[in-house]
Amino acid sequence: MFGLMMDEPLLISRQLAFAQRFHGAVEVVSRTVEGPIHRTSWGAVARRAAQLAHALTRLGVKPGDRVATIAWNTHRHLELYFAVSGMGAVLHTINPRLPPDQLVYVVSHAEDSVLFFDTTFTKLAQLAAARCPSVRAVVAMTDAAHLPADLPGALEYEGLLAPEQEAFAWPELDERTASSLCYTSGTSGFPKGVLYSHRSTVLHSYGIAMADALAISAADVTLPVVPMFHVNAWGIPYAAAMTGSKLVLPGPGMDGKSLLELIDDEGVTSLLGVPTVWANLLAHLKSVDRSLTTVRKVVIGGAACPTSMIRAFEEGHGARVVHAWGMTETSPLGTANVMLPKHQGIPYEATLAVKAKQGRPIFGVDLRLIGDDGLEKPHDGATSGHLQVRGPWVASAYFKQEPTDVGTHADGWFATGDIATIDPDGYMQITDRSKDVIKSGGEWVSSIDLENAAVGHPGVAQAAAIGLAHPKWGERPLLLVVRAPGADPSREEIGAWLETRLVKWWMPDAIEFVEALPIGATGKILKRTLREQFAEYRFTT
Ligand code: ADP
Repeated sequence: MFGLMMDEPLLISRQLAFAQRFHGAVEVVSRTVEGPIHRTSWGAVARRAAQLAHALTRLGVKPGDRVATIAWNTHRHLELYFAVSGMGAVLHTINPRLPPDQLVYVVSHAEDSVLFFDTTFTKLAQLAAARCPSVRAVVAMTDAAHLPADLPGALEYEGLLAPEQEAFAWPELDERTASSLCYTSGTSGFPKGVLYSHRSTVLHSYGIAMADALAISAADVTLPVVPMFHVNAWGIPYAAAMTGSKLVLPGPGMDGKSLLELIDDEGVTSLLGVPTVWANLLAHLKSVDRSLTTVRKVVIGGAACPTSMIRAFEEGHGARVVHAWGMTETSPLGTANVMLPKHQGIPYEATLAVKAKQGRPIFGVDLRLIGDDGLEKPHDGATSGHLQVRGPWVASAYFKQEPTDVGTHADGWFATGDIATIDPDGYMQITDRSKDVIKSGGEWVSSIDLENAAVGHPGVAQAAAIGLAHPKWGERPLLLVVRAPGADPSREEIGAWLETRLVKWWMPDAIEFVEALPIGATGKILKRTLREQFAEYRFTT
C-alpha cells in the first residue's frame, strides 16, 4: 500500500522559490571581481536567476545541456547555480587551478555549451573557447564597462540579463534529473565527473542544515570561503536558500585581511572552508592583534584539521569548530564532529582528542570499514580499514563511465580511498588516504597524526609525512617541514616535541626542511609529487 502524501519532486528551483517567498529580504553580500561590495537579497537573486534562465533559453541552452563556470564566490555565480539547474540544464563548475590540459579535458569531456567566466580567468576562457568545439558562447560575468578586450565575441552578463523578464516558469522536472557536475581534482589520472541530481542536492541540503551537522540557519550570517567551484561550495548556497541564512560571498578576496574585513562589516557568525584558508586568517589575526567577535562556528574540512587550529579558534576566538569530512563523490558532507552529552564537563584537553576526529555520520550517509582481507572491521576506535560509504547523495558512477569504474562494490558501497577508524560512539577518524599510507612492519603509521603533531609546534608552518623504502621495516616516515615565518626550529627540537605526542614507532626516521610543499588544484598537498622528489632519499640510520 502506498502512502497518500503528495509526490512533490525535490527540486533546486523550489529552494529558490521558497527563498524568494519567505526570505526575500534576507541579504546576499558579495565582494566583487570589479572591486566594490555588492548587496542584494534572496528575492533579487531569484528575479535575476529567472532573467538568466530566459537569456540561456535565448542562447539555445536545452534541458540536459552543460553550462560551465570558471568563477569566484559571488552573487552572479549564485544566480547561475539556481538558473542553470532550475531550468533543467547542468551546471559544470570548473576549478581555475586545474592545469591547462586538464581544463581543456574537462570542458571537452563535459561537452560544455556555454561558458561563464570571471574576468580574472579570461585567459582560461580563451583557452577553452579556442580548444573546445562544444563551447558555442562565452559570457564574461561583468558589465559592459569591464568587458575584457582580449576575448573578442565574449558576451556580457549584465547586458544578457537586462532585457529579460523577472519570472520564469521553472519546469516540473523528475527529481532524479542531473543538476550539476563537478570533476575530482585528478591527482591520479584525468579528473572524473561527479554528476549530482536535484534529489541528491535537496536531500544533502536538509542533511547539512541539521543542528548536529553544519547547522545552517536563518539566525546565521554564513560565509562560505570554500569555493563555489569545489563540490558546490559544500552545498551551502542551496542550504542557505532553504533556511534563509544571510549569505556573504568573498569573491576573489580569500586572504586573511580581506576575510576579516568582510567578517567584521557583515557580522559573520558562521565560517566554512579548508584548513589552509584558516591558517592564513589566524596568522592575520595574530599579526594585527585582533580576535573574532561575531563568529560562533567555524566548519573546517577538505583536509585534516590540526588540533592546534581547533584550539586557536576555540580558546583564542571563542568560536566552536566543527571538523567535517567529505568528498566530491559524497556531495560532499559525510561526517561532522559535534559533541555528545557524555562529553559535557570533561576537561577541554580531553575533548580536543575527540574534536580532532572527522566526526559522526549524518543521517543519509552510512559508513563501514573493510580490511585488506575483504572483511568488515569493528568500530572500536583502534582497528583501521578502508572506509566505504553509501547513501542518496553518494555517487553511483562517474559521468560517462560504467558503474564499476567508480570503485563501488557489488553490494552498492562506494570505496572512498581513505583509511579510517570508527569508535564505538560513531566518530570516524581518517588516518590516511590509501594511496598515501606508510606501512611500517605491516602496520599503518598515520601520516595525518604525524603531520598534525608537527604543525602544533609554533615553529612549523606546514608538514607532510611520506613513506620511503626501508630495508627492515618496508617503509618508514620522512617528515618534511616548512618553517613558520621568522622561526628557525632545529630537527632535534621538533623531534623532542613529537616524542611527547606520538607513539614511538610513528616517529619519523628523518626530518628535512623544505621551502614549500607542492599543492594541488583543491589546495591539498601532493604526496605523490613529494614521493617522486624524495625517491632517491636514504635514511642514514
Ligand atoms: P580530491 O579527491 O579531488 O582531492 P575531494 O575534495 O573530493 O578532492 O577530496 C576528498 C578527500 O579529502 C577525502 O577522501 C579525504 O581524503 C580528504 N578529506 C576531506 N576532508 C577531510 C578531513 N576533515 N580530514 C582528513 N581528510 C579529509
